[in-house]
Amino acid sequence: QVKKLGRANYQFFSESLHKDSRRQLSLEMDLHKALERNELVLHFQPQIDQTRNRVVGAEALIRWQHPVLGTLAPDKFIPLAEKMGLILPIGDWVLKEVCRVAALCQSLALTEIEFSINISAHQFLLDSLAENIHQYLEEHALPSALLTVELTESVLVKDVETTAAILTQLRDVGVKVSIDDFGTGYSSLSYLQQFPVDELKVDRSFLTGLSQYKNAEAIVSSIIRLAKDLGLKIVAEGVETEQQLSFLRAKECSIIQGYYYAKPLEAEALIAFIKTFNRVL
Ligand code: C2E
Ligand code: MG
Ligand code: MG
Ligand code: MG
Repeated sequence: QVKKLGRANYQFFSESLHKDSRRQLSLEMDLHKALERNELVLHFQPQIDQTRNRVVGAEALIRWQHPVLGTLAPDKFIPLAEKMGLILPIGDWVLKEVCRVAALCQSLALTEIEFSINISAHQFLLDSLAENIHQYLEEHALPSALLTVELTESVLVKDVETTAAILTQLRDVGVKVSIDDFGTGYSSLSYLQQFPVDELKVDRSFLTGLSQYKNAEAIVSSIIRLAKDLGLKIVAEGVETEQQLSFLRAKECSIIQGYYYAKPLEAEALIAFIKTFNRVL
């Protein structure tokens, strides 16, 4: 009942600009409380290795279970969190929560499952990022190789020296580094030459492009080829259709993530999915 009323109110108010900024304001106030009220939750989207037909990992994707507005996607509040300086505590919570779920998988003998974490620009530039990750891994006695940090190209092009130093710290801790939304950023390919990177993620837009643009096939194959030639792991994200899947298989893209297999799932559902898919009894 409360939920319904709330939604209607928000729609009604959004009709005027003034009211729109009021909505933003209340969302900001709500976000301040979201962490302590336990309203944030991680969903996990399985990643399937095509050569072995097994779930080998999952990407952690944050959600906000807003008491009135219902479940909010990260695009609705992560930019706000960055603006408000809340991205550091939120990002830190994400790191801890991923380690908790990773440890749960270890305890259930799902020992090969790796976890990917999205890192925002502010969080990346935080001096203690690598140190914090190291600490949480130790607390759960987790092998560092189980974690991959996903960075977008916009994070990597900030400042070459700083970026290189932070990537080296992460490397020293033993976590892997992935470039998310590969090919959609502003940068050239030069950072692949300069920075230690382990994985490329083919952006969903290139896969939806397969059925729309004449050039999309060449672009996707080139990204896969590039990853192979550089000795990097390649993950395709946002795979929805049989056609996309068979194209990627033909090009030997090893890891697939997308609605074709599963939407992002709550931790328990993820574990059930892995057990069924990998036939773990
Ligand atoms: P991303 O890291 O590129 O994540 C992929 C997005 O594509 C996710 O959206 C996922 O739910 C969606 N997706 C996956 N497969 C499919 C598919 O087959 N079809 C369609 N239509 N969509 C698919 P989501 O969860 O809304 O996340 C959006 C973005 O928010 C992420 O993009 C990431 O940049 C950011 N984000 C998510 N979680 C976090 C977090 O914990 N911290 C930070 N800093 N950013 C996060
Ligand atoms: Mg990502
Ligand atoms: Mg992405
Ligand atoms: Mg994205």
